[in-house]
Amino acid sequence: MKHIVSWSGGKDSTATIILAHMLGLPIDLIVMCVLWFDKKRGITGENPEHIAWVYNYAKPLFESWGYKVEIISSEKDYMHYFYKVRQKSKYPEYVGKYYGWVLGGKCKMQGEKEQPIKHYLKALGKPGIDYIEYVGICADEKDRIETLMKKKGKRSLLAENNYTQPDAKRLCADYGLLSPTYGIAKRGGCWYCPNQGVPELARLKQQHPELWNELVELSQVENTITRGFKYGQTFESVNAEVDAYIENQKYAAMQMTIWDAMEE
Ligand code: SF4
Repeated sequence: MKHIVSWSGGKDSTATIILAHMLGLPIDLIVMCVLWFDKKRGITGENPEHIAWVYNYAKPLFESWGYKVEIISSEKDYMHYFYKVRQKSKYPEYVGKYYGWVLGGKCKMQGEKEQPIKHYLKALGKPGIDYIEYVGICADEKDRIETLMKKKGKRSLLAENNYTQPDAKRLCADYGLLSPTYGIAKRGGCWYCPNQGVPELARLKQQHPELWNELVELSQVENTITRGFKYGQTFESVNAEVDAYIENQKYAAMQMTIWDAMEE
């Protein structure tokens, strides 16, 4: 029987690998699926700091522990879903238009992250007989544990060893394996995710203007069904909020400088 860890690079799945290493458990494979924004141009959907950390730091470290790490790709990218043309609809005005922005709460890219790993595991044989999949679910996630118990061949090392979510984060930090995502955002995820808050989007605009410009370009595409980038809010409106936030930050920094100078 093979022992597999589904890894996202987030704290819980990373802590699962650390725990397996601490307990000396055999892990045959760590598998991760990378999401793409635009495969043709080589732009991943992952936060740039996170994906660099995965490839340059975490993966080599796990390999030095003797674990095989396989990084697979989502089949379809964001561009596919954005430019997909609607063929049928009860609203005739939608037919022949691009779908446009993926919708928060109904994100098609989530399936793109899950499906390749499902297919990969299916090829290994029967769950619980041919392989065990370790997933990053913590002891304080009761609902997720209940769902997990109903699934064949899935286990949670964190829950079995009473690690809560804060414990998992601490374990990653202790091993120097906390993704840089946690220093810059409340949660991991794609750089274009509509669930992000204004501070995260402002950081994207300031630190990765090339990615922000990708969103600007998409916002100018005509003939799309969805016009709301973030839960019905247009990209233009989100952009204005982001600019206001950046201005406020600059003003606050300037005030602090004046205050510091007065105190000296
Ligand atoms: S992080 Fe956001 S955009 Fe990415 S798959 Fe999840 S919901 Fe979709």
